Amino acid sequence: MIPDISKIRKDFPILDQKVNGKPLIYFDNAATSQRPLQVIERVNEFSLRINGNIHRATHSMANRTTEAFESSREIVRNYLNAPEAAEVIFTHGTTESINLVAFSFGEAFISVGDEVIVSEMEHHANIVPWQMMCERKGAILKVIPFTDGGELCIDQLDSLITDKTKILAVAHVSNTLGTINPVAEIIAKAHLKNVPVLIDGAQAAPHFKIDVQALDCDFYAFSGHKLYGPTGIGVLYGKREWLDKMPPFLGGGEMIDRVTFAKTTYNEIPYKFEAGTPHYVGAIGLGAAIEYVYNNDNLMLTQHEHDLLNEATIRLKQIDGLRIYGEAPLKTGVICFNIEGIHPFDLGTLLDQMGIAVRTGRLCADPVMDHYGVENMVRASFAFYNTAEEIESLYIALIRLKAMF
Ligand code: PMP
Repeated sequence: MIPDISKIRKDFPILDQKVNGKPLIYFDNAATSQRPLQVIERVNEFSLRINGNIHRATHSMANRTTEAFESSREIVRNYLNAPEAAEVIFTHGTTESINLVAFSFGEAFISVGDEVIVSEMEHHANIVPWQMMCERKGAILKVIPFTDGGELCIDQLDSLITDKTKILAVAHVSNTLGTINPVAEIIAKAHLKNVPVLIDGAQAAPHFKIDVQALDCDFYAFSGHKLYGPTGIGVLYGKREWLDKMPPFLGGGEMIDRVTFAKTTYNEIPYKFEAGTPHYVGAIGLGAAIEYVYNNDNLMLTQHEHDLLNEATIRLKQIDGLRIYGEAPLKTGVICFNIEGIHPFDLGTLLDQMGIAVRTGRLCADPVMDHYGVENMVRASFAFYNTAEEIESLYIALIRLKAMF
């Protein structure tokens, strides 16, 4: 069945506007997606009608806010199929989630000469926190390379993982190549050698349901703002067996059990990792976003996104001198490209004049730029509210720009 996208678009009033005098075509969803009314209204409710700082009060406003916050945790638990809600930690986003693990796991389990593995296609958020930790601990960062086609060389894992390897961190979906990595296989290989695995799910969670038990990952991180939710909120799932053994990341209120000047004891998970007042309105909005996406027929929407990707790939390949980076057989709706003789920034600016929002630059993935020997790329990324007509408009716009240059 073909999903009724025009009906879905009514939930996203932001899409219905002109930019630079042209109907907006929003193809920057991998950077941040737009929010449906259902999320906006839920967030507004917690400004207009209900607001009280969570967990610390007897009054009704605070209790209602606490209930909404904790029921969002349950929505996330259910979305991830995590065994326990206590294994779901609210953070500010994927970046903070990965920093939390790099710091706290590093403190507990990494020493001089140990090894950490990431991949060549990671976003900087899944490289730099590990580098910082390796520098602090005297550990070594190793890298799984990818092929020019955009697939991880997982055959190299057997030699990369040694008895010094303490953790492996890899993206579920690449933010530049769009590749859906075979994370279940990677996790199984790592677990054979008792190496835990963190999955950066920032680009996966917006597209499909995650099952952390089926994957058997040790940590899973994602951001709300890419999943049709608010900015400033994200999630870290972690297996209790690790989280219980890891020291806190930030200190302050909420994360403590008892404070004296002689010694402080810490709260249980998840609170041990939620110091201070969390972005509870954001967490409540994220719950609404997950309910929205997964109340719609998500499989149908995934198929629609897949069709958009296929159509865009076919069309873009018809443009002379256009090179697509990353053509793995399993991809989400992300296409990075360059057109010979046109600077990506010029392309981005001129497309914007035509109402088409794409991203240009290094895409927080310098090693991917280095792999292909380019300074910048153009990225078009799709969401379920995009249409085949919009893809056609991008194609026509690129043809016009090519002729202009
Ligand atoms: N990992 C990947 C794969 C991403 O695409 C992004 C966002 N571009 C991040 C991590 C960081 O997410 P955030 O900025 O929401 O923390």
